[in-house]
Amino acid sequence: MAKVTQHFHPNDVPWIQGISINMYVEDSLHWPYTPNGQYMVKSGYRVGREMNLHPPRCSNMEEIHKWWKMIWSMKLPPRMKFFSGRVCNNWLPTKTNLLHRGMEVNPNCEACENDAETLTHALWKCTETKAVWKLIPWYAKCDLVEEGSMFDILTVLHNRLGQTEFEDAIKVMWAIWENRNRKWNKLPNMNGVQLLDWVFSAYPRDTTQRKATIQESNGVGLGFIWRNWQGEIMIAGMVYGKGKS
Ligand SMILES: [Zn+2]
Repeated sequence: MAKVTQHFHPNDVPWIQGISINMYVEDSLHWPYTPNGQYMVKSGYRVGREMNLHPPRCSNMEEIHKWWKMIWSMKLPPRMKFFSGRVCNNWLPTKTNLLHRGMEVNPNCEACENDAETLTHALWKCTETKAVWKLIPWYAKCDLVEEGSMFDILTVLHNRLGQTEFEDAIKVMWAIWENRNRKWNKLPNMNGVQLLDWVFSAYPRDTTQRKATIQESNGVGLGFIWRNWQGEIMIAGMVYGKGKS
């Protein structure tokens, strides 16, 4: 790991460590982002887009400010907010990112062995990842979102989903990334249903969805419905709180 501290910014070291990398791959001259090593313009362009090397950045500062404000005010645990910040900036150690930073690593996705592992591939496009997303009812609204960096994809998801669904999407992404790291480290990992059951039971929605408020003379009644990730109603009821004295 001395090599890591020597070559990388101190901030990047913690997230590079803990990942097993074959340091003894022979040097060879090849285009690393296609499975057969042959350069293709299409692959170069796509990987570049997915890695944010030439991103179609929004130049409107107000929009950017609004975006980050939304990210940091999500009703999610801090670790997931930090994670989503890293996703937006492509600051996660995918294999293509490690390669781009000078590590000798085979960039092919280990899950499907079909494509280079960009962040977009790992979190969204990989067939194994898709299988998880397809289990979620609201995924139908985002089915054809395929192009660009994860930041591009997140902005489209935010447009198409309600805020709570968007926050659920971040949870799922986080769980997919955790599971991917477990696979890398040869630890037991989960299938799609297990993954969703785990993340949505360990991190339930912060507040129940409040459907109605009934003003009382000295208190407030709140009707609520709590649905699980499959849209089934788990709990519905009414809570009654005393009004401010
Ligand atoms: Zn894959």
